[in-house]
Amino acid sequence: VLRVENLHKRFGLLHVLRGIDLSVHKGETIVILGASGSGKSTLLRCLNFLEMPSEGRITIEGRLVGRETGTPGVMSYGTRELNALRARVGMVFQQFNLFPHMTVEGNVMIGPMKLRGMTEETARTLAHDNLRRVGILEKAREYPARLSGGQQQRVAIARALAMEPTMMLFDEATSALDPELVGEVLLSMRRLSEEGMTMLVVTHELGFAYNVADRVIFLEGGMVHEEGTPQEVLQNPKQERTREFLRSHT
Ligand code: ATP
Ligand code: MG
Repeated sequence: VLRVENLHKRFGLLHVLRGIDLSVHKGETIVILGASGSGKSTLLRCLNFLEMPSEGRITIEGRLVGRETGTPGVMSYGTRELNALRARVGMVFQQFNLFPHMTVEGNVMIGPMKLRGMTEETARTLAHDNLRRVGILEKAREYPARLSGGQQQRVAIARALAMEPTMMLFDEATSALDPELVGEVLLSMRRLSEEGMTMLVVTHELGFAYNVADRVIFLEGGMVHEEGTPQEVLQNPKQERTREFLRSHT
């Protein structure tokens, strides 16, 4: 579904991603671990083109996205292809960013109506299907402020799913939640993974990584420092830096 080759990202002089190579196959769930500042969010943001990569190639569903312009480090993209691409990759953030003046179902319907030209009726059916998928259909007519953080985050997941993405990115989706609400969101994510959704998940929840991930990637200094099955990376890390990270997160 996704291939990343030699991806670099610079912010001015700051060289944040330093040659990432990564392949994600259909139906795979990959968990990305790494210390603060290692470039996890920047990597996900590049995959959704919220940030423009400085260098490298990103192929989604066999299509190369963006063109090298000939000037090293400068890529060009068409607005149409970018928008089409963003619609194929769903993203869930730490902050849910729901529209407070819209109902739960309204929040899930707006994307398909505005960006995919769906009628209200079709969008409502699709919204209800996806709210059911994350176990929160009964709140369809509520406003976000009346939901718990865990419920709001599940609405945010349903909103991303309603765009029918080929791949979902999660950036610390449970980090802003009260501890007792983390479980329900992780459970929704686990169900999605078991349904066969292709997922790239940045999280500090090592239990989720261990139980759900097909592969775990440890990022360090903008590079893939270690990669393998959850058993390999979490139980038997080869790199000292990975061991250190795991010690500080258990
Ligand atoms: P955390 O675990 O704290 O979320 P992270 O691994 O997600 O960390 P990033 O947010 O990707 O790390 O940041 C990596 C580096 O890039 C940091 O040094 C950060 O300050 C820098 N950075 C991120 N976004 C920008 C930006 N828009 N402009 C300048 N520097 C940035
Ligand atoms: Mg981050």
